[in-house]
Amino acid sequence: MNETAKEGLKPSVIEGRELLPPGSKHCRFCFQTKPLKHFKTTNQIKSGYTSACRKCYLSRQKQYYYDNREKRLAYQTKYNRSLDPKVVSAYGRAYYKNNKAAMLETERRNRLKSMREEINYLKIRVHDQKKEIWSLEKSCKEKDIILFRLSLQEALRER
Ligand SMILES: [Zn+2]
Repeated sequence: MNETAKEGLKPSVIEGRELLPPGSKHCRFCFQTKPLKHFKTTNQIKSGYTSACRKCYLSRQKQYYYDNREKRLAYQTKYNRSLDPKVVSAYGRAYYKNNKAAMLETERRNRLKSMREEINYLKIRVHDQKKEIWSLEKSCKEKDIILFRLSLQEALRER
């Protein structure tokens, strides 16, 4: 463990008052205090640990992956088109000619696979949103009904 990572073991102060137990850290995203083993180590941050716990880190990474899907695909297409057929080696051309059907089949299967993965991810997000709405509805008293309607309309607009 390096020098900066050791600092994470000292009790840290949040907003100048709350003292965290040593060997634990506050996750900036789920707002939970967790043992340090729930955080990835990094040299980029002074404490030696990421500001998101492993769980939040992973879900943020996944979200980024899907949120940037269009950009990524556009970049890939642009790159593929920029490849000059004359530059592609003779070996590559011969390989393509001999394996065209298999390559197209692999491409098709990969496309299906990535769409299924995205569907699974979207299903989880829709489910999470439903849970959020149910809990909102539960906590909503009669006088809050106007606010509840507004917050639902807002949530729809944000999408
Ligand atoms: Zn977290």
